[in-house]
Amino acid sequence: MKISVIGTGYVGTVSAACFAELGHDVICVDIDKSKIDLINAGIPPIYEEGLQELLKKHAGKRLSATSDYDSAIMNSDVSFICVGTPSDSEGNIDLGIVKAASASIGDSLRKKKGYHVIVVKSTVVPETTEKVVLPVIEKHSEKHLGEFGIAMNPEFLREGKAVHDFMHPDKIVVGSMDKKSGDIVAALYNGLKREVTRTNPRTAEMIKYVNNSFLATKISFANEVGNICKELGIDTYEVMSAVGKDFRIGPHFLNAGAGFGGSCFPKDVKALIGKAKEIGYEPQLLKSVIAVNEGQPARMVMLLKNKIGSLEGKNIAVLGLAFKNDTDDIRESRSIPVIKDLLDEGAVVSAYDPMANENMKKLFGGIRYYSSAADALRGADACLIMTEWDEFKSLDKEFDVMENRLVIDGRHILVKPGKDIEYVGICW
Ligand code: NAD
Repeated sequence: MKISVIGTGYVGTVSAACFAELGHDVICVDIDKSKIDLINAGIPPIYEEGLQELLKKHAGKRLSATSDYDSAIMNSDVSFICVGTPSDSEGNIDLGIVKAASASIGDSLRKKKGYHVIVVKSTVVPETTEKVVLPVIEKHSEKHLGEFGIAMNPEFLREGKAVHDFMHPDKIVVGSMDKKSGDIVAALYNGLKREVTRTNPRTAEMIKYVNNSFLATKISFANEVGNICKELGIDTYEVMSAVGKDFRIGPHFLNAGAGFGGSCFPKDVKALIGKAKEIGYEPQLLKSVIAVNEGQPARMVMLLKNKIGSLEGKNIAVLGLAFKNDTDDIRESRSIPVIKDLLDEGAVVSAYDPMANENMKKLFGGIRYYSSAADALRGADACLIMTEWDEFKSLDKEFDVMENRLVIDGRHILVKPGKDIEYVGICW
């Protein structure tokens, strides 16, 4: 089938490359010319394991990129909207980019003869596909539903494992307003051995939010339990390892630490809170999930101050800037509030991340960035570990170059800290 993918960020680029791998012809559309050029040259605009290989294989053959909506819509049967859905200043979902992309699709659709399906893959709050995207497309295309189809197909991939997750999904959800467009979208996934859950668009939208909110809830629950365990001298990891053996609970997402970040969990939980309030419901549990999460970075700094007192003029090494391992994405990374607090307290920050230094430089230009943990640790009065990178597990001799070997671990990564290190866990 011929597909166009609107927005070539994490979701768009990965979806485009994987759809090409499944045998479809794919045209990517983005307003950012630099991403178009990179994709056409077979270079991923973001880092994702396995993405480079797929782009190299398909760019210039089954995969191309353009900023011209008209040619993309004319030369495809299905368009996936994969643009960002950030939070607005109140934490509610900002649908401005989705509306702009829908308007552009509608303008092009007006000039096209024949059936076309528009699929919302961006994470959007329930009712958006029906009450926001559909009317914008109808207005701009001067066509009515039936002359084109509309569907919602949420994306569940994890950054860092996005290509693997797309090719081996544990669920595929397609919500459509009519059977024809749902059948077309479901058929795109025929190459994957996974049953497609068919539903209506608002249910598909809700499934995505419930999925992310439940995982975020598990993390904040584990962090709250961890904070209590630490005060009581109980190993929260031992507790959760036993608790997770209950088949009704499961072992995943019970690791206490510095909290969740990334482009999805914080914004999606906040967006669901916003949607609930809009319909007159006060979501107490979801609000607490965010509150616990926002407290964890401050705990890292509090533990540090408890150990070394005032941070004025102290050299603090921050290891890990990405919101999680195996990605260069720093969006909502827990290292951001930590670095901000350190700077506000007058500390001198040295930072190292295997992949995310360049992205963090755009946020904090005034701190020192290093190309290895050992270099960042040289002369430090303390070190904070903020990301669960594999290479941090084996840090040992690297701590020898610190002025004061105090390590505060926000990720339970330094499982066997050396004898000469003063080791403090955030929740253990
Ligand atoms: P992103 O910000 O990385 O990428 C969005 C892209 O859209 C950018 O390249 C931007 O230039 C482009 N764009 C903006 N306006 C445009 C327009 N009018 N026309 C064409 N392109 C335009 O976003 P992302 O992380 O890929 O997320 C996209 C959506 O998918 C969001 O709703 C997000 O919540 C959801 N999602 C993300 C993940 C994830 O892990 N990143 C996982 C599942 C779902």
